[in-house]
Amino acid sequence: MSDKIKVNEIFGENVFNDTVMQERLPKKVYQKLHETLSEGKDLDLATADVIAHEMKEWAIEQGATHFTHWFQPLTGVTAEKHDSFITSPMKNGKVLMSFSGKELIKGEPDASSFPSGGLRATFEARGYTAWDCTSPAFVRHDAAGATLCIPTAFCSYTGEALDQKTPLLRSMEALSKQTIRLLRLFGNTTSKEARASVGAEQEYFIVDREKYLQRKDLIFTGRTLFGAMPPKGQELEDHYFGAIRERIAAYMKDVNEELWKLGVPAKTQHNEVAPAQHELAPIYEEANVAVDHNQLIMETLKKVAGRHGLMCLLHEKPFAGVNGSGKHDNWSITTDDGINMLEPGKSPHDNMQFLLVLTCILKAVDTHADILRESAADVGNDHRLGANEAPPAILSVFLGEQLGDVIEQLIDTGSATHSLKGSKLETGVKTIPDFMKDATDRNRTSPFAFTGNKFEFRMCGSADSVAMPNTVLNTIVAEAFDEACTILEQADDFNLAVHDLIKKYATEHQRIIFNGNGYSDEWVEEAEKRGLPNIKNMVDAVPALATEKAVKLFEKFGVFTKAELESRVEIEYEAYSKAINIEARAMIDIASKQIIPAVVKATIEIADSIIKVKEACGANVSTQTETLEEVSDLLVETKTALTTLIEVTEKAAAMEDGREKAVYYRDEVVTTMAALRAPVDKMEMLIDKERWPMPSYGDLIFEV
Ligand code: ADP
Ligand code: MG
Repeated sequence: MSDKIKVNEIFGENVFNDTVMQERLPKKVYQKLHETLSEGKDLDLATADVIAHEMKEWAIEQGATHFTHWFQPLTGVTAEKHDSFITSPMKNGKVLMSFSGKELIKGEPDASSFPSGGLRATFEARGYTAWDCTSPAFVRHDAAGATLCIPTAFCSYTGEALDQKTPLLRSMEALSKQTIRLLRLFGNTTSKEARASVGAEQEYFIVDREKYLQRKDLIFTGRTLFGAMPPKGQELEDHYFGAIRERIAAYMKDVNEELWKLGVPAKTQHNEVAPAQHELAPIYEEANVAVDHNQLIMETLKKVAGRHGLMCLLHEKPFAGVNGSGKHDNWSITTDDGINMLEPGKSPHDNMQFLLVLTCILKAVDTHADILRESAADVGNDHRLGANEAPPAILSVFLGEQLGDVIEQLIDTGSATHSLKGSKLETGVKTIPDFMKDATDRNRTSPFAFTGNKFEFRMCGSADSVAMPNTVLNTIVAEAFDEACTILEQADDFNLAVHDLIKKYATEHQRIIFNGNGYSDEWVEEAEKRGLPNIKNMVDAVPALATEKAVKLFEKFGVFTKAELESRVEIEYEAYSKAINIEARAMIDIASKQIIPAVVKATIEIADSIIKVKEACGANVSTQTETLEEVSDLLVETKTALTTLIEVTEKAAAMEDGREKAVYYRDEVVTTMAALRAPVDKMEMLIDKERWPMPSYGDLIFEV
């Protein structure tokens, strides 16, 4: 890597973006593609052939030998199958490089190895990938060479979504349609479409690769399953920080360079709360591109770490007792002509529209808090949400003082305004003060915070895709807009009707607004009084996906069918059970083969020392004896918990997939894992560091 990075030269150099297409595609083909993009038309095969050919030529110039349909199955990570461009050898022994429109548009990966939650069994075994031409293709360089990656959606033969992308695209269409409908009511005649804008801030941990490799728990599960907290204060040693910065800075520089080449607008980076924890935020983009780019960010963070002798941990809670990692999903709605629907605006008229949008969002989040909560549920996030360092598992909306006050006024004085008629209402609305971006108040504890001209959904897990959270947000807000439009379209007096509707929504859904400390116990109590759901873990979150309410919502906007939702429920339970099973088995392995043997050896040493010291001089050996007794007791406790863990894990694994199994894993296996961990972590504090079979938290977190 060169020392000086010329960002404007390298940015997007590995992307088949609009500029490249404009340069390389025949004018007509380029226009056709744009029609497809803007009007949602189908791409004909002849056009696709030309695009595919140019794409291939361009990719080969970049050094690509293979192409792949890059997609996001329901595993949370991306999948790909690589095909080389070569055709069958010719008579002269040479090969041609080819890539057809058909290959570009459609792929047929072996779908059987991806989760489908019974969908494929019910419908059809095959799965198809289809080009998402709204997200640009790119060439990725890695040890395997260079590959042309084509972002795709992944569906079953009959069109059921088997991935994260398809529902997201569907939800974006629904939101666009309803947003335009709403804008028209306010007199807008120019905007053609509206898109969800998303900026996902990614948190991650960096550890030393050599040390990582000595931790089987990190290797198998991405998090530590054992580990005593280091004494506090250690992190404040300055010289450590100097060293950390050098190594991490070099890594970050490399990450940025890779991302920029891929057209990912990596923007900010900084150290996070916990030692060894960092954050990377890109500039926001259209939701589907942002979701793809977040996947590229996660991949790149991991890949580049290897080059620097480091390891990137994306897990939500790699270290118990240390701050975990999340992903803040910044979300707003932007029209094709640049209107941000969440911009408060200056004039009363803008305020009216903004307040309607805002109250619609309040209504949406309140009505569907359970689904939104579910969208952020993953196994790792169970360790975070509600654990006093991440938002609670209770959904609420933070508006800030100013905006909260506006809403309060509306609710309180609403009846007075009601008595006003006609032109006087105008004045009533004008009394709504101009509000500015809420710059002062930076509430960090809210799961869903208004931050000036966007909402920030902060529940998402660091390792999870943000596709589902945005799919849910788009759909629930589309529903709220739809309902508002239906009412307003029938109103005799539009202004009066808008005013009434804003007041109605604000009043009916004010319980979802909370501007206080989300980490406090009082809030948990208060939320319960307000009737807000407090869904504490993933297993309890999952059913929200397929309630009657959810099915009605998603089917109405064509985002998910009932079958797709039910399949996702199954997939989530399966994912939960699988993850816990791996963790339990890793614990069993580590405890049996590493920890118990090491502690046994250590006890022999202590016992020897007791005998020898006594023999040598008859001195007081009470310290050694006490330690030996304490360790021996803990060893018994460890062994007992280990035996139980083996039993419950075997029992769980034998159960049939589904909710019951997931519940058993949560209630029996996870509980026993905690019972095993407790004595082990205590022993770690009593045993000579040299004897402990793996690097400690201190080694991992502070010595990067
Ligand atoms: P904060 O400091 O409040 O976290 P930043 O300005 O650092 O906000 O932005 C955080 C993320 O939000 C970035 O990814 C940024 O691009 C994104 N963002 C900013 N404005 C918007 C918007 N209107 N819609 C969606 N995302 C946005
Ligand atoms: Mg933020």
